Amino acid sequence: MYAEYFPVVSDLVHRLGLVALVSMAYGSIIRAFHGPMTRSLMVGLLFGCSAVISMLDPVIIDDGIIVDARSILLALSAPFGGVVAVLVSTTLTIISRILIGGSGVYAGVVGILIIGSISLIFTLVYRPKVYSWKHFVILGLTVPLYTLSIFVLPFERAMPIFQRMALPMLTLSVTGIILISMFLHRERLRVDRVKTLEVDAHTDPLTNLANRRLFDRVARRTFRKAASTGGEVFSLVMIDIDSFKSINDHWGHSNGDLVLIEISTIIRSLVRKADLVARYGGEEIAILMPTADAGEAMAMAEAIRRRVNETFFDFGRTQAHVTVSAGVSTFTSQHQSLTDLIEEADVALYRAKRLGRNRIELASMAA
Ligand code: GH3
Ligand code: MG
Ligand code: MG
Repeated sequence: MYAEYFPVVSDLVHRLGLVALVSMAYGSIIRAFHGPMTRSLMVGLLFGCSAVISMLDPVIIDDGIIVDARSILLALSAPFGGVVAVLVSTTLTIISRILIGGSGVYAGVVGILIIGSISLIFTLVYRPKVYSWKHFVILGLTVPLYTLSIFVLPFERAMPIFQRMALPMLTLSVTGIILISMFLHRERLRVDRVKTLEVDAHTDPLTNLANRRLFDRVARRTFRKAASTGGEVFSLVMIDIDSFKSINDHWGHSNGDLVLIEISTIIRSLVRKADLVARYGGEEIAILMPTADAGEAMAMAEAIRRRVNETFFDFGRTQAHVTVSAGVSTFTSQHQSLTDLIEEADVALYRAKRLGRNRIELASMAA
């Protein structure tokens, strides 16, 4: 009486190789595609294609009646890919099922539609950020409803097949869905963790600006590109908060932190999309401005200086006035390294300090 299980279990084991590939590809997709639409579309294509592959290697129960892992992959399309994913994977699978043909086409298509709908309803009903294994037990128990599609065949033919297959299908569905969702879930966690670590590794926790590590990496790349093409200009702006030590001494370190955060917000709101703003040192903020010449970089530095000068920093009972100074340097073909360019901006910054603060200076080479 257990003989019916053998092909089903071997079918499941058989497909674990496919599952490993699907989870790997799933990880790559959620890493590479950030837009919800494109990501959903790509996951749909992946699950749809995998469902089709599993359909091409089926367990044949009866003439034209095929059973395979497609139901599992389709059922997981919505929870792991969203609405577009399940529409894409269902459409792909229906087209392939029609092309495969046989007398079970009609039942097959109805079955696929049922699974797609279950997957969609499941996601719309639960919509949690993270599914737990209990959700997948429920999904696994619901998906075999699609076997009812067999009743589009004449009853006397459908009933014996249904009786023979109902229990094995239920087992396949529950174990398959839990197992595969576990693979996919782990992959998603892994990708999320790597992303968080990557963001942490290049973000300054106080200001949320990029940190010096990221700045140096991107600036070096920009320098190399400019040096090799010879023509592409870019600029650096080094900003330093004036007399910050006395702000800390006067208002306390935590208010000093607030000033740093607010100045970072001001700078972020003024720069262009292509610019990279980083906390370069304690109270020093650097801006990398690709394609910007000295004039554009000076204008940006001046806009920041002016805006900070016009801002009053609220410390509860009192308001403080804070200023910044900046040094600007621009790439020329005479620059040998990024360090040259940073040093020049620093020299210009210290000139601004010497000349009285709350001002900006352009490096001599760029002038
Ligand atoms: P100058 O106008 O010449 O730049 O004077 P300054 O006081 O800003 O320069 P100095 O280098 O003497 O002091 C910088 C101060 O910045 C000292 C340090 O305690 C403070 N600082 C550095 N990082 C932080 C931070 O994360 N939070 C706070 N509150 N203060 C910081
Ligand atoms: Mg300072
Ligand atoms: Mg400083």
